[in-house]
Amino acid sequence: MARHRNFRNLDYSEEYGYDDVYGKSLEEEVAVSPSTAAEFIYQRNSREIPSLKTFLDRRADPEAPPTTTLSSPLATTSSTATPRLDVVGPPPGFPPMARGQVPIRITAEGSQRSGDIEVITKRVASSSLKPKRGFVTAGRSLDDGLIHSGTPSPSRSPYASPARSPSPTHATPTQRPALTPQRSKSKFNRVDVLTEYKEREKTSKGQINLVVIGHVDAGKSTLMGHMLYLLGNVSKKAMHKYEQESQKVGKGSFAYAWVLDETGEERHRGITMDVGQYMFETPSRLVNLLDAPGHKDFIPNMITGAAQADVAVLVVNATVGEFEAGFEAGGQTREHALLVRSLGVRQLTVAVNKMDTVDWSQTRFNDVEQKLKLFLKQAGFKESDVNYVPCSGLTGDNLMTTPSLPELTSWYSGPTLLQRIDQFRSPPRPVDKPFRCCIADIFKGQGSGFNVSGRLESGHVQVGQSVLIQPANEVATIKALSVSEGQSSWAAAGDQVILTLIGLDSAKVSIGSVLCSQDQPIRAVTRLEARVIVFNIDIPITIGFPVVLHYQSLNEPAVVTKLLSLLNKNTGELLRKKPRCLTKNSSAIIRLDVSRPICLELYQDCKELGRFMIRAGGNTIAAGVVTKIIQ
Ligand code: GDP
Repeated sequence: MARHRNFRNLDYSEEYGYDDVYGKSLEEEVAVSPSTAAEFIYQRNSREIPSLKTFLDRRADPEAPPTTTLSSPLATTSSTATPRLDVVGPPPGFPPMARGQVPIRITAEGSQRSGDIEVITKRVASSSLKPKRGFVTAGRSLDDGLIHSGTPSPSRSPYASPARSPSPTHATPTQRPALTPQRSKSKFNRVDVLTEYKEREKTSKGQINLVVIGHVDAGKSTLMGHMLYLLGNVSKKAMHKYEQESQKVGKGSFAYAWVLDETGEERHRGITMDVGQYMFETPSRLVNLLDAPGHKDFIPNMITGAAQADVAVLVVNATVGEFEAGFEAGGQTREHALLVRSLGVRQLTVAVNKMDTVDWSQTRFNDVEQKLKLFLKQAGFKESDVNYVPCSGLTGDNLMTTPSLPELTSWYSGPTLLQRIDQFRSPPRPVDKPFRCCIADIFKGQGSGFNVSGRLESGHVQVGQSVLIQPANEVATIKALSVSEGQSSWAAAGDQVILTLIGLDSAKVSIGSVLCSQDQPIRAVTRLEARVIVFNIDIPITIGFPVVLHYQSLNEPAVVTKLLSLLNKNTGELLRKKPRCLTKNSSAIIRLDVSRPICLELYQDCKELGRFMIRAGGNTIAAGVVTKIIQ
């Protein structure tokens, strides 16, 4: 009864921020996100798409009219009811504090005027996503002319190439060439980090971590690859090389995608598998771009990328029939949108892509927008935080420059995609909370110690500081530190960092371990209670249900050991104690036993480390927040 009363007295909108999470109107019975259908089958090679050269040539002369006209019949689409969708993804509740510019090492750069925006691109090392095994930086080095010319740093890091996310598994350190942050001059000289942080905020641009999501084949890699090319991040010479090479293997239309799809397998299969990472700069923002895989087989990698994101660009394919395939059951549009919202992303730009295939039809654009609007509202996105941009990743129209196409300008005069990205607000950073940094990668450097990378979720840290590593319960000292590849003596919440640790055996650390302050350590947990929102599942969740818990860069087998209560997902009110099972679209408090200790926080203490996803049978079946740590 006490539990009953407690639930009734809880202010859920206060507790979980559900006020903007829960949809208000649609019926629960309608199917929701995560796909349960058979694997999507790809027919990319059969597509008739004009030669990329057409567009490259056009780029050389921006005034030149399109040399190829793409046409596609515009058919009306069925207006099926948008399903009910609730997620656990409240806004960060930390005090507002914008994040400032972080020093980054420039390995290649260029600038280009884009409408009213002057953009500077900087290709930097990844600090938290590791290059894929076998990813050869030298193959794309400055020497072979593939990277747009810039002044190569003498100590250029292998991370200076687009980096890749780690497979979310435990891993032992691997030898990696020369990535050792230099020892800070101010080593062991304590600095007042909060004061430094405030100074940095005043003088620098805010960094945002942007994840690009969407159904496979929506054109994510092409869109972002083309944008990076227009930004000057990829040289024309390199682009021609991609075009030639992709044509040679019969995949000419993928040339822009090859900017981001780095590996042979990705290029062979024509899909993104890992999370590619780039950094570029707009007038108001430093943008850390994460290109997530769309294929359902790589959702865990997508979660790893999305867990580090502040904002998202959702790419949808405007082509008739294709949007519907991505949006309906079996497609990843819904699942991705749901996942990023569940992982805390609030601001979203929808790139309505491939508009060239529907002759830039306003009717089609409105149709896509209407369908998504309802769905995204139910997914917990505020209407004011979502906007829609018509564009074509292949032709490059409306990516960076104000479009000149009469078919588009006759009805659209809004911002370009890049302008929308520039307008994203920096999310608040919990710098005054206890220090927490979840390890996304581990690697050896040149000197003593070893390097770990990840994002500072909360608090701050500085060189010379001793930190605790959980769940190993080991202490290490920070010998050196770099923020977004630039040497620094301190770092604060939101920063992508590489830390060189000494005084600790690297074998005791694994991906998913958490670095924390010694006086306010994070707990290692094997049993917890969580409030979950169940997605569109086929098989009800019962006691004993084996699942995989996805949390930061970690995925651990777990078992549902108790179904404690079924809740009204709109109000959080207790509906039933000890339900026999959980069906789709329900909300509940459950107990989970994890196979190995993992470091979690109560959601009310740290939102970033207090939420997780649950998957089973290759599908994401629920999102959860930690309400109680038992042991
Ligand atoms: P991803 O799986 O979402 O990363 O999609 P890709 O970027 O790999 O693109 C898939 C296919 O769609 C490729 O053949 C691209 O050339 C094509 N494509 C991408 N964007 C556009 C576009 O704006 N218009 C047209 N016509 N084709 C596009």
